[in-house]
Amino acid sequence: VTDWQGKNVTVAGLGVSGVPAARVLAGLGAHVTVVNDGDDERARAQAAELEALGVAVRLGDGDTLPEGAELIVTAPGWKPDKPLFQAAERAGVPVWGDVELAWRLRGPDAAPWLAVTGTNGKTTTVRMLAAILTAAGLRTAAVGNIGVSLLDAVLGEQEYDVLAVELSSYQLHWAPSLRAHSAAVLNLAPDHLDWHGSMEAYAADKGRVYEGNRVACVYNAADKATEDLVRAADVEEGCRAVGFTLGTPGPSQLGVVDGLLVDRAFVVDRQKNAQELAEVLDVNPPAPHNIANALAAAALARAFGVPATAVRDGLRSFTPDAHRIAHVADVDGVAYVDDSKATNTHATEASLASYESIVWIAGGLAKGATFDELVAKAGKRLRGAVLIGADRALIREALARHAPEVPVVDLDRTDTGAMLQAVREAQRLARPGDTVLLAPACASMDMFANYNQRGDAFAEAVRELGAR
Ligand code: ADP
Repeated sequence: VTDWQGKNVTVAGLGVSGVPAARVLAGLGAHVTVVNDGDDERARAQAAELEALGVAVRLGDGDTLPEGAELIVTAPGWKPDKPLFQAAERAGVPVWGDVELAWRLRGPDAAPWLAVTGTNGKTTTVRMLAAILTAAGLRTAAVGNIGVSLLDAVLGEQEYDVLAVELSSYQLHWAPSLRAHSAAVLNLAPDHLDWHGSMEAYAADKGRVYEGNRVACVYNAADKATEDLVRAADVEEGCRAVGFTLGTPGPSQLGVVDGLLVDRAFVVDRQKNAQELAEVLDVNPPAPHNIANALAAAALARAFGVPATAVRDGLRSFTPDAHRIAHVADVDGVAYVDDSKATNTHATEASLASYESIVWIAGGLAKGATFDELVAKAGKRLRGAVLIGADRALIREALARHAPEVPVVDLDRTDTGAMLQAVREAQRLARPGDTVLLAPACASMDMFANYNQRGDAFAEAVRELGAR
């Protein structure tokens, strides 16, 4: 589409993607109608802002396709089986996500995209990547699912040499024509299956990130499913499959040798068959899953031609976002660590693998997950467990099956004050040298507004212990 003047476009959903989309489309001269399920105060404020720009807004009715609609631009989280999309299909109206819109409007011309997706580690990897690109003197930004609208990045006044783009499986589902310079799928584990319908559909949506890649498809050598997605993708001629591994790298891989991150895929010096990039201890924190994130970020940066020194400098300058394995305090020789962002079992497995002797605080909304595998793997490392939240019985039962020797405190309360009690119980179970780890393996919405608030409550409780 090049002529937007007078085109009837429906924007599905207000919020972080819908508001910029409606604003941009109205600016291009389209007739924009926003449909939104909710009708709360925030929606009304956003509606008022858009109405001032000539956009029509229908609150509380997200499922009726407006008369004459020629295109829907949807918020990524809207489920494909929603009646609105069924109506669109019947009427032959195409549906794009906000990422597709950004790509079609100016994606390829604004800057090349280095894209990152996967079940866990996306935000961390994209931030590491942006730090590396910045250290190389490139004008870049971490954008996309990270909370910065791609539309704003692509159409804004700021010029970029390259973009570090985080994409969720939802965004990829709605972005059929996106073509990245290079892309990485970090890992694949069951998550959001209620939305995608099946693991196969979830994997296929993630795999779209590789479609049309020009230089490199970066996969996780320890996760065969990611490699399979590379094989299935239709890429540009000359595009390479590049693996990352925590072990010794094969040809065309990045990996770890004697405490060093090493690149065997993008070696420029013909005398050498490997290029040292950085020390493992340059990665913050140097936990196994995070070293994997650093290798993935390094692979994308190297695919873009960044020198080894910039990888090292970028990794050294990187600090993790809050609530991702954040060390809160040491109290009486026990470390307290906040990994509230570990909202699924795959993330929690990585988290539990990072410490030797753990008092584990877990629980919340399970989103259909099962905990047997997680508990069977991590049981040996547990000094004890304190369970909170709505679905804690599922974790308690898994512990009873696979780690019956681990003492469990089951907190039968879901008020916000429960976190202070949980931390006190954890303190009682812990011995000097242990780590009390909040890695809930569950979503937080039964007790908290979001994972940030849950992590803050934990940190607050730890400070109270320390202040005694
Ligand atoms: P995302 O953006 O994909 O949600 P984050 O970088 O925010 O990922 O990390 C979310 C959580 O996932 C972290 O708190 C950590 O527990 C876990 N995690 C991070 N990287 C990985 C990885 N490579 N593999 C498994 N778990 C990870």
